[in-house]
Amino acid sequence: MIYTDTRDKSVKTDFRTAVMNGMNEKTGGLYIPVEFPALSSEFINKNPEPSFRDIAFEMAKPYVAGEIPDADLSAIIQDAYPFVAKVVPVDPTAYVLELFHGPTCAFKDFGARFMARVMSYFNRNEDTRLHILVATSGDTGSAVGSAFHNVPGLDVTILYPEGKISPLQEKQLSTFDGNVRALKVKGTFDDCQRLVKTAFTDKELRAKLRLSSANSINISRLLPQSFYYMYSALVVKNQSWRMSKIENPAIITVVPSGNFGNLTSGLIAREMGAPIMGFVAATNTNRTVPDWISTGEYKARPSVETYANAMDVGAPSNYERIISMYTLEQVRNLFASYWLDNDGIIKSIKHCFDRTGYTIDPHGAVGWKAWDDIRSGALQSLKDGSKGDYTKPGLSPNLPAWADCVLNKKAVGIILETAHPAKFGATVTQAIGREPIIPERLEKVLKLEDKAIPMQNDYKQFKEWLLENL
Ligand SMILES: *Cc1c(COP(=O)(O)O)cnc(C)c1O
Repeated sequence: MIYTDTRDKSVKTDFRTAVMNGMNEKTGGLYIPVEFPALSSEFINKNPEPSFRDIAFEMAKPYVAGEIPDADLSAIIQDAYPFVAKVVPVDPTAYVLELFHGPTCAFKDFGARFMARVMSYFNRNEDTRLHILVATSGDTGSAVGSAFHNVPGLDVTILYPEGKISPLQEKQLSTFDGNVRALKVKGTFDDCQRLVKTAFTDKELRAKLRLSSANSINISRLLPQSFYYMYSALVVKNQSWRMSKIENPAIITVVPSGNFGNLTSGLIAREMGAPIMGFVAATNTNRTVPDWISTGEYKARPSVETYANAMDVGAPSNYERIISMYTLEQVRNLFASYWLDNDGIIKSIKHCFDRTGYTIDPHGAVGWKAWDDIRSGALQSLKDGSKGDYTKPGLSPNLPAWADCVLNKKAVGIILETAHPAKFGATVTQAIGREPIIPERLEKVLKLEDKAIPMQNDYKQFKEWLLENL
């Protein structure tokens, strides 16, 4: 597969370069495959549908062709995914796609585990270790730390702002041993990011250490997230007659979004033939993308804190990939968009629980409310001529091309549940008056010893530490 760049279409490179570089330093652009080959209709129309891992293998194949042989790709996928995504019907026209069955209980495990194994594969013939530096404001650090833990040839150093992440998140990233360590920095997330960025531009340091990053713009994190979109759409396509009494429903996938990497992966899956009719881009108060879809003007802004904190992004980096794939007009046909404030998030968790008995986390809750409003009147009122008000929580005023499928009751929604509710226990308890059940793997981590190393917000000290300890 040839990879190009969102800012310069004359760039042509291979998968290895795209993965190892993360982004194109020369242009500041993001790598993107030149095409998204569709799976055969024979594969897509299998009933029952292929397993998650078989889908993963078929979808990954074209992107690594000529660089990773089939047997090695298959081993990477088996090793990355001892867990799967689960489709849970919660009512006749709503399915929840649980993406939290991985080790850190959030969807980022899908991307990070694939990336770790691919990097290790590309590093296998090097005689020096590759050092991954990652700054985190919470979830990314634990997914990356866990994904790279004990992966041969690689080391990970996680930087996080001391006292600014939740106690559970802190445990999840500071208790590793071996090749993964955490530095608690006396500063903010931006300070952590500055330390990492300075290290990457430090020629003296780079002459001594091989450095790489593991952030969410890496194409090897985006591609594997497309696997579960395909998988869930095929499961729902095959089961909807039994569950929803609708034959061949229009499938609308609802994506709680922050940096829009997850949604971009959904677009890739659709290009590859996933039977997804449309998407709902759902955000919290950080509504940069819903505002763009409403007004046509893209205005990045500082992020604000919300209960769905993994979506607190004011300048989503994958916007650049979305507009390299589609025009605004196409986006308005393909996406509905929706945003919800903190008060709405609490009410949505309660509403979902009262209506279906399902305990949803604050991120998934944004998706639940979006879908429930869309199917029960919000689209109808746009169709009837309401202008809508994009500055208020709710549906953005564009009418997607699939609106009639919903209005004619021919559509079902798949809501991506991006994290386990127990990761956000306090918010969920506030909403429904009871604590979510904690999975065993989270409970275990709470009992481990915290090994984080204190670090001043000072590049000189950070560099000395790297040189002494890596
Ligand atoms: C990262 C994250 C998101 C947002 O995903 P993007 O790809 O950044 O849009 C949503 N929910 C949870 C729980 C996350 O960790």
